[in-house]
Amino acid sequence: MLAARWHAARDVRLEEVPEPVPGPGEVLVEVACAGICGTDVSEYRDGPHMIRSGPVTLGHEWSGRVTALGMQVSGVEPGQRVCGDACIRCGTCEWCRRGEYNICRSGASVGLHRDGAFARYLTVPAYTLVPLPDAVSNAAGALVEPLAVGLHAVRQGRVTPGDSVAVVGFGMVGCAALLAARAAGAARIAVVEPRPERLRLATELGGEPAGRNRFDVVIECSGLAEAMPAALEMVRRGGRLVLAGIAHTPATVDLGRIVYYEREVIGALGYRYDLERVVALLAAGRLDVSPLLCPPISLAEILGGGFERSLNDPAAPLRVLVNPA
Ligand SMILES: [Zn+2]
Ligand SMILES: [Zn+2]
Repeated sequence: MLAARWHAARDVRLEEVPEPVPGPGEVLVEVACAGICGTDVSEYRDGPHMIRSGPVTLGHEWSGRVTALGMQVSGVEPGQRVCGDACIRCGTCEWCRRGEYNICRSGASVGLHRDGAFARYLTVPAYTLVPLPDAVSNAAGALVEPLAVGLHAVRQGRVTPGDSVAVVGFGMVGCAALLAARAAGAARIAVVEPRPERLRLATELGGEPAGRNRFDVVIECSGLAEAMPAALEMVRRGGRLVLAGIAHTPATVDLGRIVYYEREVIGALGYRYDLERVVALLAAGRLDVSPLLCPPISLAEILGGGFERSLNDPAAPLRVLVNPA
C-alpha cells in the first residue's frame, strides 16, 4: 500500500510499504479520512521535533473502520466505525494509574513514534479506539482528535457557564478551544489572531475581537514565547491562564503579575478521555464543525496540496483532510 513517510525535514516520501498486521492487543483499521496537523507540517518543515527516529508514516488525526483484530482484543468488532486517541501509554506508571495518561512517563504518539494514518491501513492498540456513531461523518471523525485538545484546555481552565474567555492564536487548537468554550457555556469568547483569514473564520464561529478587556479564562494556543506576557495581562484578577501551545523558547514573565493578581497558570497537554466527550458533543449537534470541512485530497496530493499548501498558503483550510483509500 502507499504511505506518506517522514524520512527527514523536507523529505516526506510516498512509498510502497507492506500492509500492516495487528499484533496482540492491536486492531487493523482502514482509514476513511485523516487530517494534516500543524505538528506534521512542522516535522516536515524543520523536524525532527517530536519524532525520535524515521522513517515513520505520519498521521495521528483519523477516522476509519476496524477490519481485523489481533490476539487478546475484546469489545471491538470488525466493521465498527472509529476514530483514534493518538496517545500511546504504558498503562502502569503512576500517572496512567491516576487516569492522567496524557502525562504518562513513557508516552508516545501514533503517527510520530509509530506508523500513522497517511496510508490505507494502520494498526493501533485497541485501547485507543473511540466508536463513532452514524451521526458523526468520517470527515468530522477525523477532527475529533484536535477538537479534544481544545476541550481539554477548556476543562483545564475550568470554564463554567457565563464565563468570559479569550483564545490567543487561532490555529486548529485555538479553533477547538473556541468551539469547546462555547459548548461549555462561555458567554463571550474573544480571539487574538493577526492573520485576517483566520480572524474571519473565528468571527464566523462566534468569536469576537479581544479589545482591552480582561477575561475569566485566557487560553494561549499560539505557543509563541513573546505572546505570554500579553496573554497573562488579559487574565482578570483571580482568573486563569491555560497554556495549550508549546513554546520552543523560554518566555520572560514577571511572576509578580501572577502573585499580586492571584492568577493561575495551568498547562494543558493533549487530552485524556476527551475524545469520547467530543464525539458525544458532535453527535448531539453541540459542536458545529461544518465551517472547517472541505473536500479531502488524495494521498498522491499530500505533499503539494497538503504539507506545502499548509506551509505557504495563508488561505489554506485550518485542516487539510486526506482520503488515503
Ligand atoms: Zn495533532
Ligand atoms: Zn504510563
